Amino acid sequence: MLKSLRVQVLFVIAGFAVILIVQGVLSRASQTLLISSQEQAAQSANEVAVVYELDRNVIDLQRNLLIYSETASQSAQLRFTSLISEVAGDLVAMEALINRHEDAEDYEDLIRRLRTHLDVYEDSFGDVVIARRRQADIAERHVKPGFERLKALVHQPSKVEPAGGQRGNISLLEYHVAVAESLSYQYMAESDARVAEKLKGQFAIITSLASGSSEVDAEIKREATASLKYIAQLGALSGSYVFNVNVVMAGSANEFFYLTRALRELLSIDQAKIDAALLVEAEKNKSRSNLAILASAVVGLLIAYFLIARILRSIRAITLVFRRLHEGEEVVVIPGSDRSDEIGELAEAASAFSEKSGQLRTALSEMQAASLRQELLNQALSLEKEKAEQAVKSKSMFLANMSHEVRTPMNGVMGLINQVLKSELGGKQREYLNKANYSGQVLMGVINDILDFSKIEAGKLSIERVSFSTEKMIDYLISAYALQAQQKNLNFSVNVITSLPTHLLGDPLRINQVLLNLCSNAVKFTDAGGIEVNISFRDTAAGTGLLTIGVVDSGVGISEQQQGRVFDSFAQADGSTSRKFGGTGLGLAIVKQLVELMGGSIDVSSTEGPGSEFLLSLPVGTTGTERALRPVSADIIETHYLAGAGGALLENTQVSDCGLRVTRSSRQLLGALLQRPLEKTAAVKPMILIDLADQDVVEGLRDTLAALTLADYPVGCVTQMQPLGLADYVRSEWGLPVLRHPFSPAQLQDFLAEVWGGSPDASSDASRESAGEALGDLPLDPQFVGHVLVVEDNEVNQVVIGAILSDLGLTYDVAGDGLQAAAAVTSAKHYDLVLMDIQMPNMDGYEATRFLRDNGYADLIICGLSANAMKEDYEKAYREGMNAYLAKPVHIDDVVEIASKYLVPGA
Ligand code: ADP
Repeated sequence: MLKSLRVQVLFVIAGFAVILIVQGVLSRASQTLLISSQEQAAQSANEVAVVYELDRNVIDLQRNLLIYSETASQSAQLRFTSLISEVAGDLVAMEALINRHEDAEDYEDLIRRLRTHLDVYEDSFGDVVIARRRQADIAERHVKPGFERLKALVHQPSKVEPAGGQRGNISLLEYHVAVAESLSYQYMAESDARVAEKLKGQFAIITSLASGSSEVDAEIKREATASLKYIAQLGALSGSYVFNVNVVMAGSANEFFYLTRALRELLSIDQAKIDAALLVEAEKNKSRSNLAILASAVVGLLIAYFLIARILRSIRAITLVFRRLHEGEEVVVIPGSDRSDEIGELAEAASAFSEKSGQLRTALSEMQAASLRQELLNQALSLEKEKAEQAVKSKSMFLANMSHEVRTPMNGVMGLINQVLKSELGGKQREYLNKANYSGQVLMGVINDILDFSKIEAGKLSIERVSFSTEKMIDYLISAYALQAQQKNLNFSVNVITSLPTHLLGDPLRINQVLLNLCSNAVKFTDAGGIEVNISFRDTAAGTGLLTIGVVDSGVGISEQQQGRVFDSFAQADGSTSRKFGGTGLGLAIVKQLVELMGGSIDVSSTEGPGSEFLLSLPVGTTGTERALRPVSADIIETHYLAGAGGALLENTQVSDCGLRVTRSSRQLLGALLQRPLEKTAAVKPMILIDLADQDVVEGLRDTLAALTLADYPVGCVTQMQPLGLADYVRSEWGLPVLRHPFSPAQLQDFLAEVWGGSPDASSDASRESAGEALGDLPLDPQFVGHVLVVEDNEVNQVVIGAILSDLGLTYDVAGDGLQAAAAVTSAKHYDLVLMDIQMPNMDGYEATRFLRDNGYADLIICGLSANAMKEDYEKAYREGMNAYLAKPVHIDDVVEIASKYLVPGA
């Protein structure tokens, strides 16, 4: 048990406690001794005080005795008596005090003797009192009357027969009686022998003076003798009490004083003894205390040694071990591991820790080595990454440059083909040129994709946020793909499913690019059926909304496995489609990146066979509450809608947004409607809308249509894009308004207004035809008046642009670079418009523009031309002072737009 450090420490603490207790006991003993010595000293002082009081009282007794013996005063006697009882009290007190003394008998003896002397003293005083009383008695009863009688006798002359001139003897007698009387009083007071002698002498004189024989003399002689006898008695009495006072009582008093001194001596001897005993005891205590202090010091030292040697040193040694382990040193010997107490356990823990730390060190060094390898690998990797990034950048740059370089000559090729196509051509030539034109367009599409892709990869493509018209967006989509769909005998429709704002905030260029790409794929991968573009919109928060566009086709579809890859760059669903349909595999990658750049998302869902749906969600901003579809009349228009058997060609929401309350109808219901006389049904005829899916349907409804027309019902027909000519047929046969897919929201609205009111809504463009109707028309080029300077270094492009300008009725000059352009403008010729290429030798388009602006041509209209079509390129052009900017290849429509804005229209 003692092996435990805890028990050892407890032992040490117990030892300390014992020492503390011993110290306490010793100090208590010393205190007790001190207190008892103080008590003894106080008692001794008390005793000595009583003895001194005794002395004082005895002196007082003596004094009162003398006073009494002199005066016989009553108060002195009373005081004497009280002093006697005080002295007796002192003795009683003394007796009580002396009990503590070992030699109490000696004290008792002394006290007894004192008491004896006190008794004697008291008795003697009693004698003195008696003597004094008798003296007074004799003086009062005998002496004083004797002298009275003597004096009276002396004055009785009749009785005295003076013997011849005896008068002088009488006076003498009187005198001596008076002297004797005075002496007698003196004697009574002092009892002095000489006074007694003098008194006797006086009485002898008195006796001799009364030596006559007269009776008076005889009387005087008798009286004198009697007085002398009484005076002698007085003297004897005085002698006796004076003896008592002076000898007996004085002796007793002396004896008293002697005894009290003896008492004091005894007390002082006893005190000395007590002091000596206390001293001895104090010495003993001191030695015991010293011993205890020594013992404490020894035990303290032992404890300190124990703490240092057994605990602290060991703990320090183990702490050092931990510190060394912490510093990563290897520790072989661990101090204290042979011990079986807590230190031993600590050492054991240190040893375990050391073992673990060894393992940790090994693991750490392995890890460090691994991390070093990792770092080297990382370095190599980042080097490779840098190289790869550099390579990608170089590739992107190369591609961007290449596409730019290819676009410039392509611009020429396409422009020239377009120009030739406008001239008189033979059938074969036109066909070949059309094919060349189509191939050129495909090539331009590929080049544009590569350019976009490179720019996105190089991070140079930024997204705009401007207000754009949703109607225009839909129009553009329809005009771009209706013809292509038609060429493949496909149906194509654009359905605004939920109420769409007329204007939204976003990047119209990129949204169109995405839609065109999706529709292009849909047309490309669909051989039968059709393509539907379904557009919905919902407000998400104030000023923002979500535009959702689904492009649905009935094409080949994409397998589930391939769906995951279609948005990867250069990925095509499979080799065979690539071969069959062509393409670069970049389109969807660009689409996805553009959509993500705009903050949206795109998904595909498809099944091989039935076709695919690409669903696009784009966050957009809203600018107002105006909707693309508005009610065509102030009142609700009751409408009977005979939808096609294969599915309605109009969405419910579309017509209800235009203010129609639609009831789905059937051929029978329409027949029944025709049977009823109108006035019995309603004042206003309901609108009739009929889907005409194909020629068979038209034939089946022939009678109904005729009857409805005859009954003057407001009837409108809706057809799909296919079959071609159906719409024209219906229109010519019954003169009915026909809406043919695809149509924009405004076209739908115009159609309904026409059906209802007989002509399109006056507020809208009355002459607007549905896009499907407009297909195939070749509009005549608009004409303008003006002189244009074409600044272009590429000769082919000079020809192309020149031809476009000529088609628009404009005249032009050509300058080969910026310098020539500056010279031409400053040569005092007037130009209404300058078309300025950007990249040119000698002086580029920016420089030339700056030069012209700096030289006073602030109002000159300058339009930049470049193969670069990025937003920054447009911005830079405006910054450099240009009024407009056209991206190559320059199309006649672009030039028309610029001319309409800045030039006067021609005839
Ligand atoms: P490509 O230039 O090859 O069309 P895209 O990136 O536009 O490149 O399309 C990638 C691949 O996705 C296509 O090669 C095709 O296999 C598949 N794909 C895209 N759209 C459709 C679609 N509407 N129907 C079927 N397959 C499609």
